[in-house]
Amino acid sequence: MEIKKIDTIIVGQGIAGSLVAFMLHQKNIPFLIIDPSSPQTASKIAAGMFTPLSGKRKTIHPLSLQQIPFAINIYKAISKLIGYNIIHLTNIYQLFDSVEEKSLLQSKFLQPSFAPYINANSMELSGIYNNNGAYEITHSGWVNCELWMKYFKSWLKRNDQFLEAKFEYQDLQITDDRMEYKGLAFKNIIFCEGYSAMNNPFFKETIIPCKGDVLTITSDDFTSDKIIKKNGIYLVPSAANSFKAGATYQWNNDSAKPDEADKLLIEGQLKNMLTNPFKIINHQSAIRPTTQNRELIVSQHQQHKGMFMFNGLGTKGVLQGPWWANRMVALYLQTNLK
Ligand SMILES: Cc1cc2nc3c(=O)[nH]c(=O)nc-3n(C[C@H](O)[C@H](O)[C@H](O)COP(=O)(O)OP(=O)(O)OC[C@H]3O[C@@H](n4cnc5c(N)ncnc54)[C@H](O)[C@@H]3O)c2cc1C
Repeated sequence: MEIKKIDTIIVGQGIAGSLVAFMLHQKNIPFLIIDPSSPQTASKIAAGMFTPLSGKRKTIHPLSLQQIPFAINIYKAISKLIGYNIIHLTNIYQLFDSVEEKSLLQSKFLQPSFAPYINANSMELSGIYNNNGAYEITHSGWVNCELWMKYFKSWLKRNDQFLEAKFEYQDLQITDDRMEYKGLAFKNIIFCEGYSAMNNPFFKETIIPCKGDVLTITSDDFTSDKIIKKNGIYLVPSAANSFKAGATYQWNNDSAKPDEADKLLIEGQLKNMLTNPFKIINHQSAIRPTTQNRELIVSQHQQHKGMFMFNGLGTKGVLQGPWWANRMVALYLQTNLK
Protein backbone atom coordinates (compact mmCIF):
# COMPACT_ATOMS: atom_id res chain seq x y z
CA MET A 1 0.00 0.00 0.00
CA GLU A 2 1.28 3.49 -0.88
CA ILE A 3 1.77 5.57 2.25
CA LYS A 4 0.72 9.26 2.09
CA LYS A 5 2.77 11.52 4.38
CA ILE A 6 0.94 14.24 6.33
CA ASP A 7 2.26 16.42 9.11
CA THR A 8 -0.73 16.29 11.44
CA ILE A 9 -4.06 14.48 11.75
CA ILE A 10 -6.97 16.12 13.60
CA VAL A 11 -9.71 13.74 14.74
CA GLY A 12 -13.11 15.48 14.85
CA GLN A 13 -14.46 18.57 13.09
CA GLY A 14 -16.53 20.17 15.82
CA ILE A 15 -15.75 23.58 17.31
CA ALA A 16 -12.59 22.15 18.92
CA GLY A 17 -11.16 20.50 15.79
CA SER A 18 -12.19 23.38 13.52
CA LEU A 19 -10.44 25.94 15.73
CA VAL A 20 -7.23 23.93 15.98
CA ALA A 21 -7.32 23.37 12.20
CA PHE A 22 -7.85 27.08 11.54
CA MET A 23 -4.92 28.01 13.79
CA LEU A 24 -2.61 25.46 12.13
CA HIS A 25 -3.68 26.88 8.76
CA GLN A 26 -2.75 30.37 9.98
CA LYS A 27 0.75 29.00 10.68
CA ASN A 28 0.99 27.23 7.30
CA ILE A 29 1.10 23.79 8.96
CA PRO A 30 -0.40 21.05 6.79
CA PHE A 31 -3.08 18.86 8.36
CA LEU A 32 -5.92 16.49 7.55
CA ILE A 33 -9.19 16.34 9.52
CA ILE A 34 -10.98 13.01 9.89
CA ASP A 35 -14.68 13.28 10.79
CA PRO A 36 -17.71 11.09 9.94
CA SER A 37 -20.00 14.09 9.18
CA SER A 38 -22.66 13.02 11.68
CA PRO A 39 -25.73 15.21 11.15
CA GLN A 40 -26.34 16.09 14.82
CA THR A 41 -23.35 17.05 16.98
CA ALA A 42 -23.08 19.63 19.77
CA SER A 43 -21.23 21.99 17.44
CA LYS A 44 -23.83 21.69 14.67
CA ILE A 45 -26.87 22.39 16.87
CA ALA A 46 -25.42 24.89 19.39
CA ALA A 47 -27.11 28.30 19.59
CA GLY A 48 -23.58 29.73 19.67
CA MET A 49 -24.24 32.36 22.33
CA PHE A 50 -21.48 34.03 24.36
CA THR A 51 -21.63 36.51 27.23
CA PRO A 52 -19.28 37.94 29.88
CA LEU A 53 -21.77 37.06 32.66
CA SER A 54 -22.07 33.51 33.86
CA GLY A 55 -24.39 31.48 36.07
CA LYS A 56 -27.47 32.32 38.04
CA ARG A 57 -25.41 34.66 40.23
CA LYS A 58 -24.23 36.62 37.17
CA THR A 59 -20.54 36.65 37.94
CA ILE A 60 -17.87 38.05 35.65
CA HIS A 61 -14.64 36.08 35.39
CA PRO A 62 -11.61 38.18 34.46
CA LEU A 63 -10.56 35.45 32.00
CA SER A 64 -13.87 35.76 30.11
CA LEU A 65 -13.12 39.44 29.55
CA GLN A 66 -9.87 38.47 27.84
CA GLN A 67 -11.47 35.59 25.97
CA ILE A 68 -14.25 37.66 24.36
CA PRO A 69 -12.12 40.01 22.20
CA PHE A 70 -9.75 37.14 21.39
CA ALA A 71 -12.66 34.95 20.24
CA ILE A 72 -14.27 37.76 18.21
CA ASN A 73 -11.04 38.30 16.27
CA ILE A 74 -10.72 34.59 15.53
CA TYR A 75 -14.36 34.37 14.34
CA LYS A 76 -13.86 37.39 12.11
CA ALA A 77 -10.77 35.78 10.59
CA ILE A 78 -12.63 32.47 10.05
CA SER A 79 -15.49 34.39 8.43
CA LYS A 80 -13.02 35.93 5.99
CA LEU A 81 -11.52 32.54 5.16
CA ILE A 82 -14.82 30.77 4.50
CA GLY A 83 -16.46 33.78 2.83
CA TYR A 84 -19.42 33.91 5.21
CA ASN A 85 -19.94 36.02 8.33
CA ILE A 86 -20.47 33.71 11.32
CA ILE A 87 -20.11 36.25 14.16
CA HIS A 88 -22.97 38.47 15.32
CA LEU A 89 -22.38 41.02 18.08
CA THR A 90 -25.59 41.86 19.92
CA ASN A 91 -26.82 42.54 23.45
CA ILE A 92 -28.64 40.01 25.59
CA TYR A 93 -32.02 41.24 26.77
CA GLN A 94 -32.21 39.53 30.16
CA LEU A 95 -35.53 39.52 32.02
CA PHE A 96 -35.53 39.34 35.80
CA ASP A 97 -37.01 36.03 36.92
CA SER A 98 -38.57 37.49 40.08
CA VAL A 99 -38.81 40.64 42.20
CA GLU A 100 -36.31 39.09 44.63
CA GLU A 101 -33.78 38.46 41.88
CA LYS A 102 -34.30 41.98 40.59
CA SER A 103 -33.46 43.66 43.89
CA LEU A 104 -30.47 41.34 44.47
CA LEU A 105 -28.98 41.88 41.03
CA GLN A 106 -29.75 45.59 40.87
CA SER A 107 -27.66 46.22 43.97
CA LYS A 108 -24.92 43.91 42.67
CA PHE A 109 -24.82 45.76 39.35
CA LEU A 110 -24.05 49.02 41.22
CA GLN A 111 -20.51 47.70 41.67
CA PRO A 112 -18.24 49.62 39.26
CA SER A 113 -16.87 46.39 37.74
CA PHE A 114 -20.28 45.70 36.15
CA ALA A 115 -20.71 49.16 34.62
CA PRO A 116 -19.15 48.38 31.20
CA TYR A 117 -21.21 45.20 30.79
CA ILE A 118 -24.66 46.08 32.07
CA ASN A 119 -27.21 48.46 30.65
CA ALA A 120 -29.73 48.81 33.46
CA ASN A 121 -32.03 51.18 31.56
CA SER A 122 -33.19 48.82 28.88
CA MET A 123 -36.36 49.59 26.91
CA GLU A 124 -39.41 47.36 26.85
CA LEU A 125 -39.24 44.87 23.99
CA SER A 126 -42.47 44.37 22.11
CA GLY A 127 -43.80 40.80 21.97
CA ILE A 128 -42.20 39.86 25.31
CA TYR A 129 -43.89 39.40 28.71
CA ASN A 130 -41.96 41.73 30.99
CA ASN A 131 -43.40 41.35 34.50
CA ASN A 132 -40.32 42.19 36.56
CA GLY A 133 -38.25 44.38 34.27
CA ALA A 134 -35.10 43.64 32.32
CA TYR A 135 -31.50 44.72 31.74
CA GLU A 136 -29.11 44.28 28.85
CA ILE A 137 -25.76 42.53 28.85
CA THR A 138 -23.31 44.09 26.43
CA HIS A 139 -20.13 42.49 24.94
CA SER A 140 -22.30 39.50 24.01
CA GLY A 141 -23.34 37.83 20.79
CA TRP A 142 -23.66 34.59 18.92
CA VAL A 143 -21.81 32.55 16.35
CA ASN A 144 -23.66 30.69 13.63
CA CYS A 145 -22.06 27.35 14.48
CA GLU A 146 -24.14 25.29 12.05
CA LEU A 147 -22.99 27.29 9.03
CA TRP A 148 -19.46 27.65 10.38
CA MET A 149 -19.17 23.83 10.52
CA LYS A 150 -20.73 23.48 7.07
CA TYR A 151 -18.71 26.13 5.22
CA PHE A 152 -15.45 25.29 6.99
CA LYS A 153 -15.89 21.67 5.91
CA SER A 154 -16.44 22.84 2.31
CA TRP A 155 -13.25 24.89 2.54
CA LEU A 156 -11.34 21.87 3.93
CA LYS A 157 -12.69 19.66 1.15
CA ARG A 158 -11.66 22.15 -1.54
CA ASN A 159 -8.16 22.06 -0.08
CA ASP A 160 -8.09 18.26 0.16
CA GLN A 161 -7.84 18.43 3.96
CA PHE A 162 -10.98 16.52 4.94
CA LEU A 163 -11.51 12.78 5.14
CA GLU A 164 -15.08 11.69 5.81
CA ALA A 165 -14.68 8.68 8.12
CA LYS A 166 -14.79 7.60 11.71
CA PHE A 167 -11.31 7.26 13.19
CA GLU A 168 -10.85 3.69 14.49
CA TYR A 169 -8.44 3.83 17.44
CA GLN A 170 -7.36 0.19 17.11
CA ASP A 171 -5.98 0.82 13.60
CA LEU A 172 -3.46 3.42 14.76
CA GLN A 173 0.11 2.10 14.64
CA ILE A 174 2.73 3.94 16.63
CA THR A 175 6.50 3.69 16.09
CA ASP A 176 9.28 5.76 17.64
CA ASP A 177 9.30 8.56 15.09
CA ARG A 178 5.88 8.44 13.43
CA MET A 179 2.33 7.08 13.42
CA GLU A 180 0.44 5.27 10.67
CA TYR A 181 -3.28 4.90 10.05
CA LYS A 182 -4.90 3.27 7.02
CA GLY A 183 -2.25 4.34 4.50
CA LEU A 184 -1.47 7.69 6.15
CA ALA A 185 1.85 8.44 7.90
CA PHE A 186 2.12 11.42 10.24
CA LYS A 187 4.10 12.85 13.17
CA ASN A 188 1.23 14.35 15.15
CA ILE A 189 -2.35 13.53 15.98
CA ILE A 190 -4.71 15.90 17.82
CA PHE A 191 -7.85 14.27 19.21
CA CYS A 192 -10.90 16.60 19.26
CA GLU A 193 -13.75 14.08 19.31
CA GLY A 194 -16.06 15.83 21.78
CA TYR A 195 -17.85 13.50 24.20
CA SER A 196 -16.80 10.44 22.12
CA ALA A 197 -13.37 10.89 23.68
CA MET A 198 -14.88 8.82 26.51
CA ASN A 199 -13.78 5.88 24.30
CA ASN A 200 -10.30 7.20 23.54
CA PRO A 201 -7.84 4.52 24.75
CA PHE A 202 -4.80 6.86 24.76
CA PHE A 203 -6.01 9.51 27.20
CA LYS A 204 -7.58 8.86 30.58
CA GLU A 205 -9.11 12.32 31.06
CA THR A 206 -12.68 12.07 32.35
CA ILE A 207 -15.37 13.47 30.06
CA ILE A 208 -18.86 13.90 31.48
CA PRO A 209 -21.50 13.81 28.74
CA CYS A 210 -24.20 16.46 29.08
CA LYS A 211 -27.16 16.04 26.77
CA GLY A 212 -28.90 19.18 25.54
CA ASP A 213 -32.09 19.72 23.55
CA VAL A 214 -32.82 22.85 21.53
CA LEU A 215 -35.82 23.95 19.45
CA THR A 216 -35.93 26.10 16.34
CA ILE A 217 -39.00 28.31 16.27
CA THR A 218 -40.61 30.96 14.09
CA SER A 219 -43.23 33.54 14.91
CA ASP A 220 -44.89 35.73 12.29
CA ASP A 221 -45.47 38.50 14.81
CA PHE A 222 -42.13 38.60 16.61
CA THR A 223 -38.75 39.84 15.52
CA SER A 224 -35.57 40.73 17.42
CA ASP A 225 -31.89 40.87 16.64
CA LYS A 226 -31.12 40.72 20.37
CA ILE A 227 -30.72 37.51 22.34
CA ILE A 228 -33.52 37.19 24.91
CA LYS A 229 -33.22 35.27 28.18
CA LYS A 230 -35.81 34.47 30.82
CA ASN A 231 -36.04 31.75 33.48
CA GLY A 232 -32.92 29.98 32.21
CA ILE A 233 -34.23 29.75 28.64
CA TYR A 234 -32.76 31.70 25.75
CA LEU A 235 -33.97 32.79 22.36
CA VAL A 236 -31.11 33.35 19.94
CA PRO A 237 -31.63 34.75 16.44
CA SER A 238 -30.82 32.06 13.92
CA ALA A 239 -31.61 31.94 10.19
CA ALA A 240 -33.94 34.61 8.70
CA ASN A 241 -36.93 35.04 11.01
CA SER A 242 -36.20 31.92 13.10
CA PHE A 243 -34.74 31.53 16.59
CA LYS A 244 -32.99 28.81 18.53
CA ALA A 245 -34.70 28.25 21.87
CA GLY A 246 -33.11 26.26 24.65
CA ALA A 247 -31.35 24.65 26.06
CA THR A 248 -31.75 21.77 28.50
CA TYR A 249 -29.01 20.07 30.52
CA GLN A 250 -29.04 16.37 31.34
CA TRP A 251 -25.75 15.50 33.00
CA ASN A 252 -24.29 12.01 32.50
CA ASN A 253 -26.67 11.35 29.64
CA ASP A 254 -25.08 10.32 26.34
CA SER A 255 -28.21 9.34 24.42
CA ALA A 256 -28.58 11.80 21.57
CA LYS A 257 -32.29 11.15 20.98
CA PRO A 258 -34.46 14.31 21.23
CA ASP A 259 -36.46 14.16 24.43
CA GLU A 260 -40.22 14.98 24.43
CA ALA A 261 -40.09 16.15 28.08
CA ASP A 262 -37.30 18.62 27.24
CA LYS A 263 -39.30 19.92 24.29
CA LEU A 264 -42.33 20.53 26.53
CA LEU A 265 -40.13 22.26 29.10
CA ILE A 266 -38.66 24.72 26.58
CA GLU A 267 -42.06 25.22 24.93
CA GLY A 268 -43.67 25.99 28.31
CA GLN A 269 -41.00 28.59 29.14
CA LEU A 270 -41.41 30.16 25.71
CA LYS A 271 -45.13 30.59 26.33
CA ASN A 272 -44.16 32.61 29.43
CA MET A 273 -41.80 34.69 27.36
CA LEU A 274 -43.53 35.41 24.03
CA THR A 275 -46.89 37.18 23.92
CA ASN A 276 -47.64 35.94 20.38
CA PRO A 277 -48.03 32.41 18.99
CA PHE A 278 -44.93 30.62 17.68
CA LYS A 279 -44.31 27.50 15.65
CA ILE A 280 -41.71 24.81 16.45
CA ILE A 281 -39.98 23.91 13.21
CA ASN A 282 -37.19 21.71 14.55
CA HIS A 283 -36.19 19.82 17.70
CA GLN A 284 -32.59 18.65 18.03
CA SER A 285 -30.37 17.20 20.71
CA ALA A 286 -26.67 16.45 21.10
CA ILE A 287 -24.06 15.79 23.76
CA ARG A 288 -21.75 18.44 25.22
CA PRO A 289 -18.31 17.29 26.38
CA THR A 290 -17.99 18.59 29.96
CA THR A 291 -15.43 17.94 32.71
CA GLN A 292 -15.52 17.67 36.50
CA ASN A 293 -14.23 21.16 37.30
CA ARG A 294 -15.19 22.71 33.98
CA GLU A 295 -11.51 22.72 33.13
CA LEU A 296 -10.60 22.36 29.51
CA ILE A 297 -8.42 19.49 28.36
CA VAL A 298 -5.25 20.62 26.60
CA SER A 299 -3.10 17.52 26.92
CA GLN A 300 -0.05 15.81 25.51
CA HIS A 301 0.45 12.06 25.80
CA GLN A 302 3.17 11.29 28.35
CA GLN A 303 4.93 8.73 26.16
CA HIS A 304 3.88 9.53 22.58
CA LYS A 305 4.87 13.18 22.32
CA GLY A 306 3.13 13.73 18.97
CA MET A 307 -0.25 12.78 20.43
CA PHE A 308 -2.51 15.51 21.84
CA MET A 309 -6.04 15.97 23.10
CA PHE A 310 -8.16 19.17 22.99
CA ASN A 311 -11.55 18.75 24.64
CA GLY A 312 -13.87 19.69 27.51
CA LEU A 313 -15.45 22.73 25.82
CA GLY A 314 -18.57 22.02 27.85
CA THR A 315 -21.40 24.53 27.75
CA LYS A 316 -19.24 27.46 26.57
CA GLY A 317 -17.40 26.17 23.53
CA VAL A 318 -17.87 29.38 21.57
CA LEU A 319 -16.36 31.66 24.21
CA GLN A 320 -13.64 29.38 25.56
CA GLY A 321 -12.74 27.48 22.39
CA PRO A 322 -10.50 30.03 20.63
CA TRP A 323 -8.51 30.89 23.76
CA TRP A 324 -7.76 27.27 24.66
CA ALA A 325 -7.25 26.15 21.04
CA ASN A 326 -4.52 28.76 20.95
CA ARG A 327 -2.97 27.10 24.04
CA MET A 328 -3.30 23.72 22.33
CA VAL A 329 -1.46 24.97 19.25
CA ALA A 330 1.24 26.58 21.44
CA LEU A 331 1.85 23.20 23.12
CA TYR A 332 1.95 21.53 19.70
CA LEU A 333 4.47 24.09 18.40
CA GLN A 334 6.60 23.84 21.52
CA THR A 335 6.93 20.10 20.88
CA ASN A 336 7.44 20.32 17.14
CA LEU A 337 9.98 23.15 17.18
CA LYS A 338 12.26 21.32 19.65
C1 LIG B 1 -28.29 22.11 22.73
C2 LIG B 1 -26.94 22.73 22.86
C3 LIG B 1 -26.82 24.11 22.86
C4 LIG B 1 -25.58 24.71 23.01
N1 LIG B 1 -25.48 26.06 22.99
C5 LIG B 1 -24.29 26.65 23.15
C6 LIG B 1 -24.18 28.07 23.13
O1 LIG B 1 -25.16 28.80 22.93
N2 LIG B 1 -22.93 28.61 23.32
C7 LIG B 1 -21.83 27.83 23.50
O2 LIG B 1 -20.72 28.38 23.67
N3 LIG B 1 -21.89 26.49 23.53
C8 LIG B 1 -23.10 25.89 23.36
N4 LIG B 1 -23.17 24.53 23.39
C9 LIG B 1 -21.95 23.76 23.69
C10 LIG B 1 -21.09 23.57 22.44
O3 LIG B 1 -21.92 23.02 21.46
C11 LIG B 1 -19.92 22.65 22.77
O4 LIG B 1 -19.08 23.30 23.72
C12 LIG B 1 -19.06 22.37 21.53
O5 LIG B 1 -19.85 22.13 20.41
C13 LIG B 1 -18.14 21.19 21.75
O6 LIG B 1 -17.36 21.06 20.58
P1 LIG B 1 -16.44 19.80 20.32
O7 LIG B 1 -15.78 20.03 19.01
O8 LIG B 1 -15.56 19.56 21.49
O9 LIG B 1 -17.43 18.54 20.27
P2 LIG B 1 -18.46 18.08 19.14
O10 LIG B 1 -19.32 19.16 18.68
O11 LIG B 1 -19.12 16.87 19.70
O12 LIG B 1 -17.55 17.64 17.92
C14 LIG B 1 -16.78 16.47 17.91
C15 LIG B 1 -16.63 15.99 16.49
O13 LIG B 1 -15.80 14.82 16.51
C16 LIG B 1 -16.38 13.83 15.71
N5 LIG B 1 -15.92 12.52 16.18
C17 LIG B 1 -16.24 11.86 17.31
N6 LIG B 1 -15.62 10.67 17.36
C18 LIG B 1 -14.87 10.57 16.24
C19 LIG B 1 -14.01 9.57 15.70
N7 LIG B 1 -13.76 8.43 16.34
N8 LIG B 1 -13.44 9.79 14.50
C20 LIG B 1 -13.65 10.96 13.83
N9 LIG B 1 -14.44 11.95 14.30
C21 LIG B 1 -15.05 11.75 15.48
C22 LIG B 1 -17.87 14.05 15.87
O14 LIG B 1 -18.59 13.46 14.81
C23 LIG B 1 -17.96 15.57 15.87
O15 LIG B 1 -18.06 16.10 14.57
C24 LIG B 1 -24.41 23.89 23.18
C25 LIG B 1 -24.52 22.52 23.14
C26 LIG B 1 -25.78 21.91 22.98
C27 LIG B 1 -25.87 20.42 22.93
